[in-house]
Amino acid sequence: MKDNGVVVLSQEKKQEEKGEKMQCPFCANDDTKVLESRVVEDALRRRRECLKCSNRFTTYERASFNLMVLKKDGRLQPYDPRKIAGSIEKACGKAEEEVIQRITQNVERKILRKKMGTIKTTDIGHFVLQELKKFDKIAYLRFASVHKEIDDPKELKKEMSLIA
Ligand SMILES: [Zn+2]
Repeated sequence: MKDNGVVVLSQEKKQEEKGEKMQCPFCANDDTKVLESRVVEDALRRRRECLKCSNRFTTYERASFNLMVLKKDGRLQPYDPRKIAGSIEKACGKAEEEVIQRITQNVERKILRKKMGTIKTTDIGHFVLQELKKFDKIAYLRFASVHKEIDDPKELKKEMSLIA
């Protein structure tokens, strides 16, 4: 199927929360497959293919809530989901796109569940670690050491021995 360049600005996030799925703009079928998912400028871009009519389209997912992130040095920054996806991608290395995507979504869900105006980067880091641990132990350790979430060398050694 040729790429026809159709773009849909999605409300996907809301729809997913309600248990609804992304609809194909051609035939309204809600069974679509994500072909590719990548972070662009201020959005998460997804290439999709309809499993019924095989047409392809693109969705852009943007966060639409006001959330500030409190950094370790005390500075406040607007929440940016790209940074989470980016750091997970870095930790996972060659992990499957689908895995990275799922981890990012789970982390974001946890952040949103807190329903606070401000979240600390260390809290976000902990959420990322919790999810990485479930999916990819190597990535978990890589992320933990890069972000120094495990400060105690004994603790790190213990974690290492669990996956060895
Ligand atoms: Zn379709």
